[in-house]
Amino acid sequence: MADEMCAGLEMEGGSRVKMLLSYVDKLPTGREEGLFYGLDLGGTNFRVLKVQLGGNDKHVISRESREVAIPPHLMSGSSSELFGFIASELAKFVADEEKGTSLSNGKTRELGFTFSFPVRQRSVASGTLVKWTKAFSIEDAVGKDVVAELQTAMQKQGLDMHVAALINDAVGTLAGARYYDEDVVAGVIFGTGTNAAYVEKANAIPKWEGELPSSGQMIYEKLTSGMYLGEIVRRVLLKLSLQSAIFGEIDHTKLKTHFHLRTPHISAMHHDDTPDLKTVEEKLKEILEIAGTSLETRKMVVEICDIVARRAARLAAAGLAGILKKLGRDGSVDKRRSVIAIDGGLFEHYSKFSKCLETTLNELLGEESSKFIVVKHADDGSGIGAALIAASQSQYR
Ligand code: ADP
Ligand code: MG
Repeated sequence: MADEMCAGLEMEGGSRVKMLLSYVDKLPTGREEGLFYGLDLGGTNFRVLKVQLGGNDKHVISRESREVAIPPHLMSGSSSELFGFIASELAKFVADEEKGTSLSNGKTRELGFTFSFPVRQRSVASGTLVKWTKAFSIEDAVGKDVVAELQTAMQKQGLDMHVAALINDAVGTLAGARYYDEDVVAGVIFGTGTNAAYVEKANAIPKWEGELPSSGQMIYEKLTSGMYLGEIVRRVLLKLSLQSAIFGEIDHTKLKTHFHLRTPHISAMHHDDTPDLKTVEEKLKEILEIAGTSLETRKMVVEICDIVARRAARLAAAGLAGILKKLGRDGSVDKRRSVIAIDGGLFEHYSKFSKCLETTLNELLGEESSKFIVVKHADDGSGIGAALIAASQSQYR
């Protein structure tokens, strides 16, 4: 893993580990001051938020946020419709929030934009959309600079706001956690997707073109993927059923439907602690239309969930160990405390996954070294992190 990361830093396409540049060359320190906005677009909702930063370690004095559902028809419409909607909701939020408050002396408002889709960046405040993922497919946005699209839409709304940074959720999580704890070395997402961000020495990036940033640092990002745990279990069950008739004479329609069994379903079955595995029975019946299973069969299903989740958690832990090793922060030589900040629905809700991840990380690093490593859940990194990076990149600093 650590070797692949080095190879990915060497040249574009040098490794299966993507090692994308974030162009964020400094993280918030806790000394930022003023009013900043964040916008988080990643799944079916987007969130807008406002934070008032106190400077000098006073941190966040106040915060307000609003979550807005994206109307499904806008997910496959045109770029100007989507960004127009986002900008108008943002304008409403700003107007409501600033009622009665005096704005900071004619300065343009600054916004950090968390956009968790594949983007090719050339600077911290620009990036062209490579392709849509998840439920989005807006053809005319592909290949365009999403910051320019948002900026244009905000102008049309008469909203005086400047996009100071474009980031994704892992970079946001890193920034949000570092703001409170200097020992945070990486931000990691285990949600629908999996990705991680850490700070690299700029001179350790051979593929970097152009002048090195003055901070001498560059935050990197690596992508893997992980919306598949439920789907893997479905495939195993289907194969077993077709080869052994273990579920009896059943209709395989549901079991044959791709992505029909979701990760929250297998999580619920895996955590079933009723003596006769009632939850497993219910889920099999409701979701896969497999009824009348024996306790033995249900135990086997739990075991399959366990194998699939354990495999994923152990691979994820190996990834984290690789990042720590690459950074020289695996506790073997450098005895400083190192914190990994993690967010995402999988880590948050699938407790057998997160427990196994932590146990495996300790196993990989060894008991002695593990004492210096802390894994912590960083809630809401992607939203607040965007506002914090906007603050650290602010044109008024
Ligand atoms: P995103 O990654 O899209 O920003 P989240 O961080 O909220 O979103 O993660 C959502 C993912 O978390 C879902 O796709 C699912 O795989 C996983 N998840 C959500 N709830 C559960 C649960 N109860 N048990 C296991 N996994 C869950
Ligand atoms: Mg997210």
